[in-house]
Amino acid sequence: MSKSKTQNKKAKAAAKTASRKPAAKPAPKPKGKSAAKAPVKKTIPVAKKKPRTVAKPAPAKKAPQKKPAAKGGTKAPVKKAAPSQAVKKKPTPASKSVPPLPPTKKPPAQPVKKAVAPAPAAPAKKVATPKPNPVAPNPVPAGVAAAEKGVAPSTKSVPAPSTKAAAKSAAAKSVLAVTAGEPIAPPKPPVISTEKPVATKSGALYYDSHMHTPLCKHAWGEPEEYCAQGVKAGLKGIIFTCHCPMPDGFWPTVRMAEGEFDLYLSLVQRAKEAYAGKLDVCLGIESEFFPGYEKYIEGLHQRAEFDYCLGGLHWQAKEYLNKFEQGTIEGFRRTYFDHLAVSAETGLYDCVAHPDLVKNYHPDSWCFAIIKNTVASVLDRIAKTGVAMELNTSGLNKSYSEMNPGNEMLRMMAERKIPVVIGSDAHKAPRVGEHFVTALNNLVEAGYEEVSYFKKRQRIDLKISDVISSIKKAADANA
Ligand SMILES: [Zn+2]
Ligand SMILES: [Zn+2]
Repeated sequence: MSKSKTQNKKAKAAAKTASRKPAAKPAPKPKGKSAAKAPVKKTIPVAKKKPRTVAKPAPAKKAPQKKPAAKGGTKAPVKKAAPSQAVKKKPTPASKSVPPLPPTKKPPAQPVKKAVAPAPAAPAKKVATPKPNPVAPNPVPAGVAAAEKGVAPSTKSVPAPSTKAAAKSAAAKSVLAVTAGEPIAPPKPPVISTEKPVATKSGALYYDSHMHTPLCKHAWGEPEEYCAQGVKAGLKGIIFTCHCPMPDGFWPTVRMAEGEFDLYLSLVQRAKEAYAGKLDVCLGIESEFFPGYEKYIEGLHQRAEFDYCLGGLHWQAKEYLNKFEQGTIEGFRRTYFDHLAVSAETGLYDCVAHPDLVKNYHPDSWCFAIIKNTVASVLDRIAKTGVAMELNTSGLNKSYSEMNPGNEMLRMMAERKIPVVIGSDAHKAPRVGEHFVTALNNLVEAGYEEVSYFKKRQRIDLKISDVISSIKKAADANA
């Protein structure tokens, strides 16, 4: 669309937002307004008071809760948005362009020959029957909103739900009672697509597999704006992976409400139709991983025909900190990495997002060498599952300014042939496809020869050299 038009839209959106309540605030009805224009039945959850503490689900599986013996370490107090300054001291989730800390390292490029391609082929995962799901209550305030990005959300105009997707999930709306701790189906081996990817006319071949919508309350812009940027960035497709709904009022300020799930499906569908023939718009979800909610996530993944289910482990969640932040800073980081492996071992996800996100927890003291052994064993476990890992370019905008993961960890992943999917984790349109060539070069330096993405929950591997040239070619063609 024309720039002025976009501008207009933006201005309008801004105005709208201004008059709205920042969701980060305990405003239980942040969506009242936007909902008005949404014909959708947006169930505004009634503030059912749910103890905002996580329902103490029995730690499913082996969610270790290591208790690091306090090694004279500092007790880690925690989160609080830090002011923007040169040296980032606290895990300031909100810090966007914050100057990072002196990185611990910048590993020299040292290609380790490695071909990506693990995982035995197996029957494709089939979507099962939708399970009824409840309407999540949760106007529970939570100030952690900023945790991820830090800004106030702004829900845009939501389209009317359409498609059978909506219908499908309609059925799935009413259960809740997620039973924490219930056993889930045993993990199945990942599936590798046999389909041979073909470049578009403009030469595009790759996808940006991680981005959001305003439904998560901390992302801005219409999905179509993300699509427009995807085309400009030289991509063949994009996959929306907004923050999934969660039961029990789990960190509600950074995710869509249960009652907005259908709306999410229709938003993505709307963008898909608008860009048909120009960009392959796919449906994904960034599914929270938190011990005890596996059963809920399992059901969630069956409520729509997802192309990609990305596991998101967020240490910034108040629920996570309350439960696991104990002992030393290092101990907390180890717990996080252990959970990363546990999330892969559940078999619920195609890929695990921003693997070393926890380096933003006390970023000023992050030192990879100290945690390297822990990471090595965690990667051994993940490699066994066949689950992919993400190379998230948004890390450059976080407190510890470096992609997630950093190059040293990337090399360790390459040695274990763990497939990698690149995602921008865009919370605003201009970030779609950002730093992809840099990310691809990092992969090459780490020893990778292939990079992947998912469609219909099946992994597709591409030669990195082909992807790099496709991005350059398509970006030029669509400039
Ligand atoms: Zn987010
Ligand atoms: Zn994300």
